[in-house]
Amino acid sequence: MKNTLRSLCLFLGLVLLSVGPVLGEASTPKNIILVIGDGMGPEAVGLLLYYNRFFPGAKEELNVERLMRLGNTGYCLTYQYGTIVTDSASAATAMACGVKTRDGMIGKDQDGRPMKSIVDVARKRGKATGLISNTRITHATPAGFYAAVLHRDMESSIASQFVEESKVDVALSSGAQFFIPKGTNVEAHELLRSTPKAAGWGPSKREDDRDLVMEARAKGYSIVASERELKELDPGSTRRILGLFGGVAFPLAIDRQPQMATGIPRLGDMTRKAIEVLSKNPDGFFLMVEAGQIDWAEHANDVAATLHEMMEMDEALGVIMEFAQRDPSTLVILTADHSTGGLAIAYNAHNPPKPVVLATGETWKSKFNFNDGSIFEIMLKQRKSFTRMVLDSRRDPGTLKKEVEENSAFSITLEEASRVLARDPEKGFPIPCDQQDFYVYGSMNSSALLGRLLGKKTGTAWAVGTHTHTPVMIVAAGPMSEKFRGLLDNTQVASIMAEAWGEKLPEPR
Ligand SMILES: [Zn+2]
Repeated sequence: MKNTLRSLCLFLGLVLLSVGPVLGEASTPKNIILVIGDGMGPEAVGLLLYYNRFFPGAKEELNVERLMRLGNTGYCLTYQYGTIVTDSASAATAMACGVKTRDGMIGKDQDGRPMKSIVDVARKRGKATGLISNTRITHATPAGFYAAVLHRDMESSIASQFVEESKVDVALSSGAQFFIPKGTNVEAHELLRSTPKAAGWGPSKREDDRDLVMEARAKGYSIVASERELKELDPGSTRRILGLFGGVAFPLAIDRQPQMATGIPRLGDMTRKAIEVLSKNPDGFFLMVEAGQIDWAEHANDVAATLHEMMEMDEALGVIMEFAQRDPSTLVILTADHSTGGLAIAYNAHNPPKPVVLATGETWKSKFNFNDGSIFEIMLKQRKSFTRMVLDSRRDPGTLKKEVEENSAFSITLEEASRVLARDPEKGFPIPCDQQDFYVYGSMNSSALLGRLLGKKTGTAWAVGTHTHTPVMIVAAGPMSEKFRGLLDNTQVASIMAEAWGEKLPEPR
């Protein structure tokens, strides 16, 4: 009897051992990696997917396609408190804290109460935490995960909160100008001297004498400011990193392509290092990776720039999926905070195709141009963003014409260049005449006008220069990814993640 009991126990033990980890993996994730494409509506995802289908020599399968094949796909509503369209700050707050709030608000509910975020939940569970963005660490999306302020423009306070609360172990982004004392310059700071010039230098944007870079170092952060410093950092001996790669924000991906060797890390490089450091924690980690400038390229109605941002997102997603394959207790979620611009690749009357003689001998002719892979060839010949071209033209029409023609497959007339740059006497900046009220960022309007003018050559049109209502895709793979099927609300991103770790959101701080 004793022997039988012992055999039974041994047998049960073996069964548990062999089934246990599989059950464990299937139930809850140890690690969660949330990828947010800022402004990455289905239009931007479609742009990347069709590029990969129609451009010769494209990849067999994009990482976003692989994630869809392996995981679950849903649709996510992005509305904010009381209104249909959302701002990035309220959307970040929804996804990080699980509450709908007012536009511009960060980490607070609609009544102004500071809320706990998934970063607080992760810390409570003993997990390491990381935030990555190719905008800046004080920008709306990353800020939503650690700060609580009334308005996203309060970036000095956001930077102070980052250091004071030091909830985030690994932060890799830009925004050094909000971390250095008033009256000083990024490139002169003793810990930021390696900042590549292409990443942007410049004066402090603080109103006080605090040196948050030094304060962060005193709290155990390794400070890095260039691609080389990031690469050289030994993950084995590093627990906390503050990477500030530039003054205000990364240049758009199209303006810092790898062959230009800018010294600025790519989103994938930052993601790889962050995972190396965070995954040392035996209790797991939370990491948010923001591909933040898809939105900026779309506000500027620049389709080629949007495509480059999407490629950078997909590259980072590849790094994440490679890790998730090694550690299947990882839940990977890809979504967006909203859609921007209302991009359309649409059939049009420009350059309709020639008639085709079919195998039957009949002649077939299309009335319109339905767009083929050649639009992507044109997009990829663009080597500078429209925003950069406008800046480099110093608002001189002749120089803008030269900028466009030297850096793209497009040509424009002097008259067109003048129209793109012409300032409205009342508003002081150029305005697209048909959609004035939907182009609210004066400094970006020349770029958007270029995008609208040249769009017919890439078969693309834009609706607006602002955010739209379009529900966004949500794709997840790994433990609990089945929760992301069907129609979701962006607050559920936070509540499901918290639930995965046995906690509840929303919760006041
Ligand atoms: Zn956004």
